[in-house]
Amino acid sequence: MGRVAQERVECGVIGHAWDDVSGSGGGVDKGGKKVLQGAKRKVFRCTRCGTVREEAWSKVTGQLMSRAYEYPDDYKLPKVLVEGETQRETLRKVWIRRG
Ligand SMILES: [Zn+2]
Repeated sequence: MGRVAQERVECGVIGHAWDDVSGSGGGVDKGGKKVLQGAKRKVFRCTRCGTVREEAWSKVTGQLMSRAYEYPDDYKLPKVLVEGETQRETLRKVWIRRG
């Protein structure tokens, strides 16, 4: 397994540190944003690793309509790092061993 960014390991184990940046105009760009009628758009950015999460919440039903993630390129990890382990299991071990 190659070097894994400390931030990415931490986020993989304890979860992202989301900061609400909805007002900044940023967001996930998947090549043409969907315009969702009657939806409230929320954008969050992880203060640790820089991952962006974009959500659309229905103003009518109050339910989550869509959620998309955008990861910084250098943090992209293969789905399985170690044969026979899930990514989460591997990250947890790396994290624990680093103290
Ligand atoms: Zn993160």
